[in-house]
Amino acid sequence: MIKESLLNPEHANTTYHIDAGDYFIGVVKAGSTFRLVDLEGNQAADTLFYNANDPAERYSATDTIREQGNVYLTAGSEIRSNQNNVMLEIVADTCGRHDTLGGACATESNTVRYDLEKRCMHACRDSWMLAITENPEFGLSKRDISHNINFFMNVPVTQAGGLTFEDGISAPGKYVEMVAKMDIIVLISNCPQLNNPCNGYNPTPVDMLVWDKR
Ligand SMILES: [Zn+2]
Repeated sequence: MIKESLLNPEHANTTYHIDAGDYFIGVVKAGSTFRLVDLEGNQAADTLFYNANDPAERYSATDTIREQGNVYLTAGSEIRSNQNNVMLEIVADTCGRHDTLGGACATESNTVRYDLEKRCMHACRDSWMLAITENPEFGLSKRDISHNINFFMNVPVTQAGGLTFEDGISAPGKYVEMVAKMDIIVLISNCPQLNNPCNGYNPTPVDMLVWDKR
């Protein structure tokens, strides 16, 4: 569902620029709103969420999909945790659909999907591992890296029940915006993938704008 935000980007308290292939890790406080902007279009932002006060509570695709009865995320979606609590609510979305099923790229899956020679290529799982290693204060370890949301990524479910990685439906300037319902650790890999059309074979930057709770 396409729904535009009423918030003015000029009034955002903080703007983070996440380069293509880079990661972001940080805390968004309960009641704050944040927006991910697909600056050049057709990018994928592979995202994990944790309860900042207890990182064992984390984003759960199964709880989120079951409760809303829909595999895609968009405005109105409640993003739930593995304890079935609402972590965030998507309040605006100009892209219209975000993936919960495709997972993140890894060096291992690159070899299976594309070629053995792709093993050395940079992948989202590496970016997450680097993020939690360089930022130990968040208390995350390898065991916390689990299934994720792919904002802006187009992974349609086929009639036969399969998944296909398709050309993106996002475009320059499209955004998704959500309100945190608890203090949230946001961990993003701005996907460096060069082998499928989800980011147009050309990784590009995304911005993250945060409006603090008023
Ligand atoms: Zn990736």
